[in-house]
Amino acid sequence: MPRTTGAVPHVDAQCGQRTEFALAWCLLAWYALEEPMGSEAERSGLLRLRFWGVRGSYPTPGPATMRIGGNSVCMEVRGGKHCLVFDAGTGLIGLGRQLVEERQRGTVHLFLSHYHHDHIEGLRFFLPVHDRKWRTVVYGPSLPGARVDRVLSRSMAPPFFPVALEELPGQLELRAVSSGSTVRFDSPIGLQVRARISQAHPKLGVALYRIEAEGRAIVYATDIESARGGFNDVVEFARGADVLVHDAQYTEDEYRDALRSRVGWGHSTVAMACAAARAAAVKQLVLYHHDPSHDDRLMRALERDARKQFRASSVAFEGLELAVD
Ligand SMILES: [Zn+2]
Ligand SMILES: [Zn+2]
Repeated sequence: MPRTTGAVPHVDAQCGQRTEFALAWCLLAWYALEEPMGSEAERSGLLRLRFWGVRGSYPTPGPATMRIGGNSVCMEVRGGKHCLVFDAGTGLIGLGRQLVEERQRGTVHLFLSHYHHDHIEGLRFFLPVHDRKWRTVVYGPSLPGARVDRVLSRSMAPPFFPVALEELPGQLELRAVSSGSTVRFDSPIGLQVRARISQAHPKLGVALYRIEAEGRAIVYATDIESARGGFNDVVEFARGADVLVHDAQYTEDEYRDALRSRVGWGHSTVAMACAAARAAAVKQLVLYHHDPSHDDRLMRALERDARKQFRASSVAFEGLELAVD
């Protein structure tokens, strides 16, 4: 990867349609040089993860979930000077607050796995999209009948929200990704994000993302049902990764419950996540997209159980930070 200072990433030709709002482009030239995020010390690691929301389906605040956290899904990855974010659940709101406290302007690259509410509900309260000095590039999968610009325009408009997407003061760019898309960042560490669409989530499917730099990799695989094709999709995509962040919404008993089976709901069990981690020979597994009914006590038990099946397992919690060096 050439060492350059320009920071606007490009999307490969095979990436499919790119959609930008005209307003955003008018304001962009000045921001073509992206300012570094974080301090020099923080930038010393290769890839750094932080979880801002770990809950699937809907937020679940309260005393029983204080340790794990109640916000819906959002994971941040810092690579060099770039700030990448995966999913826009309510966890994104806290990240937005921190970013605008950290600095006055910057660029955030937000990758959406799909458009279920728990993955987009934080976007409308994400401070950078309300600040004209901030640029947010949103990458969303092109799923049947669901293109990122149309979906977000529909979700953020009256009567659902008083401010329409195109009225947001922040600089917003929307880019479609499809299976095989690679977003490459101008970066001395060769930072790139690859996408793969899996059909192992109901109706429209879901995008998996693989974040790579200098031969290291983090794979983001949420909202995927291992027993319905997700296993093969993840194992192939995550092979040899340093960190696999995998959907683990259910216990085995819940998944196979005789009266209220979760089969076909598009999520995996802890055991399925561990099996995928073993088969893909990843170094570390992070269990993610926790069921909102699972309190801290149950999550601790699930982590113990997971470690018997895959030793390097952890339950994601709000504030968990990991470094890949
Ligand atoms: Zn979800
Ligand atoms: Zn979903």
